[in-house]
Amino acid sequence: MTGTPYRGRLAPSPTGLLHLGHARTFFIAAERAAAGTLILRNDDLDTQRSRPEFVDAMLEDLAWLGIRWAEGPQPGGTETGSFGPYAQSQRGHLYAAAFQQLREAGFLYPCICSRKDLLSAPHAPHAEDEDEPLYPGTCRARNPKSDEAASWRLRVTDGEEIHFHDALLGPQKFIAGRDFGDFVVMRRDGVPSYQLACVVDDAAMQITEVVRGRDLLRSTARQILLLRALGHPIPAYAHVELMRNEQGERLAKRDAARSLRYLRESGLTPQEVREMAFAGIE
Ligand code: GLU
Repeated sequence: MTGTPYRGRLAPSPTGLLHLGHARTFFIAAERAAAGTLILRNDDLDTQRSRPEFVDAMLEDLAWLGIRWAEGPQPGGTETGSFGPYAQSQRGHLYAAAFQQLREAGFLYPCICSRKDLLSAPHAPHAEDEDEPLYPGTCRARNPKSDEAASWRLRVTDGEEIHFHDALLGPQKFIAGRDFGDFVVMRRDGVPSYQLACVVDDAAMQITEVVRGRDLLRSTARQILLLRALGHPIPAYAHVELMRNEQGERLAKRDAARSLRYLRESGLTPQEVREMAFAGIE
């Protein structure tokens, strides 16, 4: 990849306040992009849970930490960069086009299973990094009716190994049909899945390296399949260790005492927050 200018991104979802775990990931993402371009993408795909006040808070908190990005929404309401819009809620036409391309190329099938069906499927749910249960393939061989409401899944090749090198964690291997199954690309309500929106945007914004939390490793394997199906280049990956609380649980947006907002209002400096964010991994 010599000669390709580095383009990295921060992709927070405005569904709550950013916490120390985000600070850790975003400091690392910003450092890796120091000689290239850093983009801030507003992952507000989930319009039910996204709130404008959390968008403002994330921009302000990142700026307070000293993180600067060349492209994307800026504190104060402007947007910079020529790959916009940088909010997923405004990029629906791109997701719809990618969905159509995948569907026409035969990668997808419609699925009418309910959430309840899936949760009662006889597979032990994966640990904390699982965002969708392993699909048992119920609708794979079904004859769809033309007027049914369905979600659309990408059919994976059971047993296929997906390998990638992680810049921070080393070689990774996942097996389709075991570590993840046929996964949702378009929801029944017409909202694209995180997997689809993420790869469409990473490709359109010419991202060369994806830096994000370790909880998304298994998503990376799925995204590699989607990128390949869409004919896009595969970026480099760096997954950052998650921050944990004293009980060993990963931090969540509900851990208010670790929110950057709370730490800042308690009088901590950005440098002190940085030391807290890196405690235990440096
Ligand atoms: N918006 C996603 C999240 O906050 C992260 C997406 C990504 O970095 O790929 O979990």
